[in-house]
Amino acid sequence: MTPFSYSRPTSVADAVAALAEPGARLMGGGTNFVDLMRKGVEAPDHVVDVHGLPLGTIGEASGGGLRIGALVSNTALASDERVRRDYRMLSEALLSGATQQLRNRATTAGNVLQRTRCTYFMEPEYPCNKREPGSGCPAKTGFNRIHAILGESEHCIATHPSDMCVAMAALDATVHVTGSQGDREIPFVDFHLLPGDSPEAETVLRADDVITAITLPEASGASRNSVYVKVRDRQSYAFALVSVAAGIELDASGQIADVRIALGGVAHKPWRASGAEGLLRGSAPTEDAFREAGEAIVADANGYGHNDFKITLAPRTVALALNKALGLAQRATGDAR
Ligand SMILES: Cc1cc2nc3c(=O)[nH]c(=O)nc-3n(C[C@H](O)[C@H](O)[C@H](O)COP(=O)(O)OP(=O)(O)OC[C@H]3O[C@@H](n4cnc5c(N)ncnc54)[C@H](O)[C@@H]3O)c2cc1C
Ligand code: SF4
Repeated sequence: MTPFSYSRPTSVADAVAALAEPGARLMGGGTNFVDLMRKGVEAPDHVVDVHGLPLGTIGEASGGGLRIGALVSNTALASDERVRRDYRMLSEALLSGATQQLRNRATTAGNVLQRTRCTYFMEPEYPCNKREPGSGCPAKTGFNRIHAILGESEHCIATHPSDMCVAMAALDATVHVTGSQGDREIPFVDFHLLPGDSPEAETVLRADDVITAITLPEASGASRNSVYVKVRDRQSYAFALVSVAAGIELDASGQIADVRIALGGVAHKPWRASGAEGLLRGSAPTEDAFREAGEAIVADANGYGHNDFKITLAPRTVALALNKALGLAQRATGDAR
């Protein structure tokens, strides 16, 4: 680890000012950032610890919904009664990630900004376009079991590893940011970027931006009747190979009034499947319809050898998640009658 200075501001304005220093970087729980510092992937000159900022609570958002402070731990968010009841897929996604100790430490903002788990990115002795633009992408012809099948580019085929972010994308969350140019609100689905020609740019954040909160819109049938299904190599303590956040709301005649689908483990960003949602809205919730929606999502998918299995696995996981969400939606409709 290279030497660095450290500060712990107590206001967002001071944190933004501290980020003006060259080589300054924010640290949340440190569960990803410090790991990367140890490996030499991150080498900040100045570490700005966010733990003095007043961003640790979950409250009502203006206009309904929830406002989740950037410092809320993954454990606190997953166990919040309102989240468990009204945004079930989010609680399930959080609880499927990492370990209890890591979730106790990891913050909401840090989870959003965790880096890819691509082995070549994590090991500085390998070339990697994300770490060192123009150096190459050994994953394309190397070991790429965890890599992307959707939205990848010739320069990078990495995936975003977060479970929480998949649910946030499906729920139409909004990221709230403060920087030297003021406050901004960014729709979650626009926050992370596809790799394109510049895989080193992973989000729309500017260098001196601090994430202050994430808001969830008012709860709906589709956010309540929702699930997170994660397929991984081990039952715990493993990142997703493919994951799906899905929610369904039925109308009075049993047709699909609203549906949410997002996938993890398949792309450089949480993959909101708006096209498949469009196919399902207004139609009958049948096994065939769920399968066709899943197949539509992978219509343009590419495999790179070790990850070819994801092209088959993804639509099956989508169908499974939709079936589970349908069960909840049918129970909710039955309860309401
Ligand atoms: C062994 C292991 C297994 C794991 N398994 C999973 C898993 O299955 N699923 C999963 O989703 N995750 C998993 N994780 C990743 C874990 O969820 C992340 O490390 C964690 O969420 C990061 O949060 P943090 O607060 O520790 O962030 P940090 O490590 O502190 O920071 C991460 C990034 O966020 C930035 N940052 C932090 N706060 C802010 C802010 N307020 N504004 C702007 N930028 C900020 C930092 O600068 C840094 O770039 C695992 C991690 C480990 C070590
Ligand atoms: S997939 Fe992306 S992160 Fe991995 S080696 Fe290639 S450029 Fe680097």
